[in-house]
Amino acid sequence: MASSRVAVIGAGAAGLVAARELRREGHSPVVFERAAGVGGTWRYDDAASADPLGAGGVHGSLYASLRTNLPRESMGFLDFPFVADEGSVDPRRFPGHQEVLRYLEAFARRFDLLGLVRLETEVVGVRRRVDGAGAGVAGWTVSYCSRKLAGGELQEEEQSEVFDAVVVCNGHFAEPRLAEIAGIDGWPGKQLHSHSYRVPDQFHGQVVVVIGYHPSGMDISRDIAGVAKEVHVAIRSAPCGMQSTTAHANLWLHPMVITWYYSTIECAEEDGSVVFQDGSRVKADSVVHCTGYKYRFPFLEEDGMVSVDDNRVGPLYKHVFPPQMAPHISFIGLPFKSILFPVFRLQSNWVAGALSGRIELPSPEEMMLDVMAFYSDMEARGWPKRFTHNLGVEFEYEDWLAEQCGLDKMEEWRRVIYVAARARVSVRLESYRDEWDDDQLLAQAHNDLS
Ligand code: FAD
Repeated sequence: MASSRVAVIGAGAAGLVAARELRREGHSPVVFERAAGVGGTWRYDDAASADPLGAGGVHGSLYASLRTNLPRESMGFLDFPFVADEGSVDPRRFPGHQEVLRYLEAFARRFDLLGLVRLETEVVGVRRRVDGAGAGVAGWTVSYCSRKLAGGELQEEEQSEVFDAVVVCNGHFAEPRLAEIAGIDGWPGKQLHSHSYRVPDQFHGQVVVVIGYHPSGMDISRDIAGVAKEVHVAIRSAPCGMQSTTAHANLWLHPMVITWYYSTIECAEEDGSVVFQDGSRVKADSVVHCTGYKYRFPFLEEDGMVSVDDNRVGPLYKHVFPPQMAPHISFIGLPFKSILFPVFRLQSNWVAGALSGRIELPSPEEMMLDVMAFYSDMEARGWPKRFTHNLGVEFEYEDWLAEQCGLDKMEEWRRVIYVAARARVSVRLESYRDEWDDDQLLAQAHNDLS
């Protein structure tokens, strides 16, 4: 089987498991990581972007109070259980972020990955090298900038190296996406994207509007309600008129306009009033945008090999391979709304196997036809492009990947626990992390994992 020298960009959960699968397959991965340690998103950073609405060079989007939104036994890698042990810093079933970082660091140590990672080294460019005929891919020139202390001073050095293949694992929760709201530019209050939210202190005694009610919006609105005078959340599915929530007397839900861009608030008036779609209005001090993130690959921009259009990264065969360049460049970790770590593992195994020749990919033309059929199907269903990498809860993709790789499918208990946990969020938002009724499944999981 062929062995390749592979550049992996990023040492978060995706990059770490990619490195492990590549090495297991006989490849030689080098992992570039711009942070000072592994773990990616799960490295909580007190520092936030200087631009409250921008990325500002800060990768992390975790807030101090964050606990996982999945139970740990279903979240972990298939062959490295995420269970509480004597080293746990938070043994709860839905632990705080520190415990996830500890788990990923343990994963890196267990599979001896740390020696593969070049820390504080940012990839700044990836250029395709063409073969003699100018048609095929003959490797990649990867340019990177490494930071090191020399003589008490931080020095940056830019270098390039050639690799046979590139695996992109740079994460997609670092580049804020904002709601399009009429009048928001001139609005006098403070604005912040959830990317830069850490603790609620700055909202003490304020009236705060939170836009968006996905996991971050749900958590952050409650975090802020603990110190603010009032919190008003613009939510896609709220009925008309203001509605309070049961557990927080000062937290209100408002209806929103349904558009692709989460344009929840009709117009933010200059006196500080925020007007909601149903005409209700509040005079707010601050707005917190919990409106999600954008995919971005700055190091690929020069080449134009993939494009991002309304959060659709494409064209990509099964979210991983650009058909014309497969398997020489791949993307791991683009999907969302699934049990992500196991998905990263399956994608990584697929990439490793395709590079070695163990797994055969369809021709570029067939892959492109598949991509186009997928896009047409989405269009026929009326799904916006930004749902492209949303896997849903059917597990079709995961099962398909497992079959391609010749691996076991995801365990039944893992699927049922995941679906049940998601369902509990909508009915028991205040307590879904601490109360459950699937003890039988949990016992089955523990039995299996042990
Ligand atoms: P990341 O963890 O973002 O890692 C990407 C890495 O690439 C980073 O270390 C970054 O520094 C590095 N990098 C980026 N660009 C470069 C470059 N040019 N050169 C070198 N290095 C680079 N998932 C769950 O399963 N359960 C949860 O409960 C959960 N909660 C979440 C809560 C929040 C607030 C957020 C933002 C995400 C949450 N997720 C959760 C999703 C989480 O993103 C994934 O679990 C997973 O950690 C993503 O891993 P990744 O490796 O794809 O990306």
